[in-house]
Amino acid sequence: MVSKRVDINKLRDSEKKYGKNYKRFTNLDVPKYKFPQSQMDSRSVYQIIHDELNLDGNPDLNLATFVTTWMEPEADQLIMENLHKNFIDHFEYPQVNKIEERIVNIMANLFNVPDGNDFIGTSTIGSSEAIMLGLLAHKWNWRQMRKEKGLPADNPNIVFGADTHVSWDKFARYFDVEPRVIPIEEGRFTINAESVMKQVDENTIAVGVVLGTTFTGEFDPVQEINDLLVKLKKEKGLDIPIHVDAASAGFITPFYEPEFKWDFRLEQVQSINTSGHKFGLVYPGLGWLIFRNQKLLPEELKFYVNYLGDEMPTYTLNFSEGSSMIIAQYFNIMHLGMEGYTKIVNRMMDNASYLSSRLEASGEFKVMNDAKHIPVVTFSFSKKEKFTLFDLSYRIRERGWIVPAYSLPPHADDVTIMRVVVRENFTRDMVDIFVEDILNAKKALVTGSIKTSQRSSREGHPVS
Ligand SMILES: *Cc1c(COP(=O)(O)O)cnc(C)c1O
Repeated sequence: MVSKRVDINKLRDSEKKYGKNYKRFTNLDVPKYKFPQSQMDSRSVYQIIHDELNLDGNPDLNLATFVTTWMEPEADQLIMENLHKNFIDHFEYPQVNKIEERIVNIMANLFNVPDGNDFIGTSTIGSSEAIMLGLLAHKWNWRQMRKEKGLPADNPNIVFGADTHVSWDKFARYFDVEPRVIPIEEGRFTINAESVMKQVDENTIAVGVVLGTTFTGEFDPVQEINDLLVKLKKEKGLDIPIHVDAASAGFITPFYEPEFKWDFRLEQVQSINTSGHKFGLVYPGLGWLIFRNQKLLPEELKFYVNYLGDEMPTYTLNFSEGSSMIIAQYFNIMHLGMEGYTKIVNRMMDNASYLSSRLEASGEFKVMNDAKHIPVVTFSFSKKEKFTLFDLSYRIRERGWIVPAYSLPPHADDVTIMRVVVRENFTRDMVDIFVEDILNAKKALVTGSIKTSQRSSREGHPVS
């Protein structure tokens, strides 16, 4: 974001200098502050922007992100073919809408919605929008319930852990709900069920549970929290819904640990979000929100758009959005099936544990997390060094690798870690190359540690 207004716009200077006929893109200036007066030919513009973007990191070497950076050529082709379709125009593009509905069905079933349940769901721009929409519905339901009982409804709160993504704090602030944030446990990096129970009361609109934290990839104890909330419902009549943030795990656990109960098999789990653009293996931005039951989505929150002479309900924050990623998700589901996703997920988990064991075996690093649910590896130095993980993160950038170093949330904020998300295209061969590179980078820092220790360490934070 830039707010400074400096006018260095000496556009078309080169034209004066070299004359109108000197047509070479390397002599053209780019607009940075003012709308340019004249036109520039499209080939030059393409080349200039293309070259400038070479300064970005290489997405395939970006081990910081959970987000997909590679899809198959046939998926790319479908994406290009549908880039110009606005998803919200259901009247004009009814078939994209049908495909979205099919995926909602597929996701609800993947998340084990009980037989015969009239679930409801929607695509979103990502998990963030899905979280906002899910929690907003719970806020409305809570208020409605309070009003019906003649009780005050002006003090809603939401309970979640400090291990959640920033979108949870955002929801609380934007939608004016008191956040009751549970500190993470030292040495565990997730919340525990008992501390959730200490925070909930009659004004709690929902409890947030994260499956695959962005910090260490670990799971909040969803079954224990569910069981204690069921007990509370039976004993005190307080029926508090759980919203599961399965941004990452939503496309991992159903394939990797199908027996693990985290979804609609648990009584209090009323809504779930996941990111299609993470382990759904689609480019950004696509998310999914599924409610266990249609009645969880209040009628007042639905808006109707014209659909072949009919009215279609929609539940979104955005209005216009692309169709391509929904279609790309359908491509993956149809192409890979349970079999394909299962193989890919198993491979990613294997590669993650291979990376863990190689880092440990080097003696230079200590693996911090228990990466048993999603393919994320976090680590730090095995002993104190004269330089920091931030220095190392900076150093391996020389080879193109992007790996973030960051501090954990309060109560563990003295712990600094590095995180690698093992995505599908981070192959075993790439793991080997990476391990070699990071060991070399560390060696170089040891050699030059007198110099580097005088440099101030940079701030770091997890990137998704
Ligand atoms: C990535 C992530 C989010 C945000 O999801 P987007 O799809 O990027 O909007 C929320 N929660 C968790 C746990 C995440 O990993």
